[in-house]
Amino acid sequence: MPENLLAHIDRLIQQRPVCKDALDSFRELASLMKEVQPEPQDIKFEDRLKDMKKDEGFPIFSGEDLPVDLHASSELFTKFIAHLSNTERDDRDGLKKVLEKTKSDSGWTESLLKTLLRKDDKALYKTGKEIDLDPATLGFLAQVALRPSVYALREALSDRIDKEPWDYGYCPVCGSEPDIAYFAKTGKRYLHCELCGQEWVYPRLKCPFCRNDDHKTLGYFDIEGEEGFRVDFCRKCLRYLKILDKRVFEEAAPMELEYLATIHLDILANEHGFK
Ligand SMILES: [Zn+2]
Ligand SMILES: [Zn+2]
Repeated sequence: MPENLLAHIDRLIQQRPVCKDALDSFRELASLMKEVQPEPQDIKFEDRLKDMKKDEGFPIFSGEDLPVDLHASSELFTKFIAHLSNTERDDRDGLKKVLEKTKSDSGWTESLLKTLLRKDDKALYKTGKEIDLDPATLGFLAQVALRPSVYALREALSDRIDKEPWDYGYCPVCGSEPDIAYFAKTGKRYLHCELCGQEWVYPRLKCPFCRNDDHKTLGYFDIEGEEGFRVDFCRKCLRYLKILDKRVFEEAAPMELEYLATIHLDILANEHGFK
């Protein structure tokens, strides 16, 4: 995990009080993350295979192939649920049901984590409805529970992952979509993977979701009163991506925090009809 995550959270809350609520609750999860140590996994990984996959546009791992410590991730997930179900949240009844489920059915959490790794949105939705918890909340908690293990994997591979450009809109390591992007000091646009945190350069005038590069159907809007943020959108697939301009900030927080600190941009993008 990024170093000094808690210090970054505290600094962000001070500098941008508007994102206090989102970051306060994440701060609790970030503290719990320190209590679980994922075991390094046996990585069956050959450079030749990786090159072949890269040439064909396949990520190194995909879906359930991702060698993560599901046991440690399940343990962390249960800690999240136990903590949150004890707060005054509106959805605490659903959280309590999830907690019961994790206790009574030993395979339930691992199966949920695998659903997330497979990116099986339908199954995630069904599970959420069955257990009475917003599927988006369930998915977010499962994703954050996987993070220490997935990040450790990515870090273990970092010197073997090519620094070559990867001309695809999904992550070269795990195949997930970007959740946020940034402009580096060089002006290049880097996409940030929603699952493993990998960052890769991607053309500024190209939609990562549908590869559209027709500038007439690509655009962005700025945020009034908030220099350094914008939302890139594509009129062809109607997707959008939040962008942080690091040239404007003295110090940017890790992107997973910037993602949470910019939830208001998601609301704005949705209001404009983008998803
Ligand atoms: Zn990834
Ligand atoms: Zn598009």
